[in-house]
Amino acid sequence: VKRAARAVLAIGISAGVLAPSQSFAWEKHATLMPSVLWGLSQPLREQLKRTVSAPCRQADVEMYPVLADRLKLNKAHMVSPTIPTNCVPGDTVELTSILAGAFVDDPDMGMDENLDESHDPHGYRQWMGGKKGPTSKGFRHMYFGGWRLTKPIATFQIPIKAVGESPERVELLANTAKELIKSGNTAWGFRVLAWAIHYTQDLAQPFHAVQIPKLAMVPWYSIFKGFGNLVSETTRTIGNYHWAYEDYVKYRIELGKDSPFQECMLKAENYAAEWVLNAKLGDHRRLALAVADASVKIGAELGSAEYKFFGGQLKLPEFDLPAGQGKLDYADLSVRPDVMDGRQELHQVTCRALANGVVATRKLIEWALQP
Ligand SMILES: [Zn+2]
Repeated sequence: VKRAARAVLAIGISAGVLAPSQSFAWEKHATLMPSVLWGLSQPLREQLKRTVSAPCRQADVEMYPVLADRLKLNKAHMVSPTIPTNCVPGDTVELTSILAGAFVDDPDMGMDENLDESHDPHGYRQWMGGKKGPTSKGFRHMYFGGWRLTKPIATFQIPIKAVGESPERVELLANTAKELIKSGNTAWGFRVLAWAIHYTQDLAQPFHAVQIPKLAMVPWYSIFKGFGNLVSETTRTIGNYHWAYEDYVKYRIELGKDSPFQECMLKAENYAAEWVLNAKLGDHRRLALAVADASVKIGAELGSAEYKFFGGQLKLPEFDLPAGQGKLDYADLSVRPDVMDGRQELHQVTCRALANGVVATRKLIEWALQP
């Protein structure tokens, strides 16, 4: 295996890039929020029942450019309305509905894409999805903490230094959210809080903190067509496993009370990593790093379980799931007896990943509600 790792390293360096092919995390973050909110303490849930003044379209349109400047977002992006229909000045909105709404998925809709060079001062994008198109947001939605001699396979990545802005983004967005809340723009404060939550939850998806969860996901045979081909093929196959994983988890979560993840999301504190549970309120960068670290800890386990579950088929040329090529039958995969072992292992490790995201989210909400 060591030889294989060295080979990837050599290939990555010679080709200059090993980019993930896409960068959603949990397919839809909004699917995690009901469990997050349900598990908050009673007093916090009461606080979230408060209604605040609702910004209508004009206020949204004026707010976004201010935030785009401050948060270095794509100014051309059109932010979704806070109140989608029939908003008139004087309307109110409940805080719970802002957090439970689709705003937690806003950061995947274009605000971090197609940015100019000044937005990427560390040059992370060359390693994390490129500078154009939907994958160009990757550098803010992932964090690969660097290769560690003590965990050479689990932390294997290219480049070997830490790359990705997620921890900084969580800190900047959470602090901006609190400033808005304190200044009386509470609805927008909670929208920006939902953005901070998004990046934190991204890091709880191990594919966002570990570049190659399992070396067997690399299509080594493609090296016969050259190094460049191996790199692009690895990008495609890792993208397939990344995508299939999120689609499968979303499919199962949407089953509601029949979801295998319901218990571990509602009682997330029983499943989350200790250092996420113990992270201090208000130190957002540390919280993000703790979540990323928890993902590294379970990354290899996830990689093995997923490979056992889906098998090697996602390396086949007919699959390019991020590009809409190839189809998996998630309903069938949910019940097939022949993949039961892989499925159980995958569920167990996913429980821990989801719990890390849920606990970290609750911490951010609790902090935001503090006076
Ligand atoms: Zn994301």
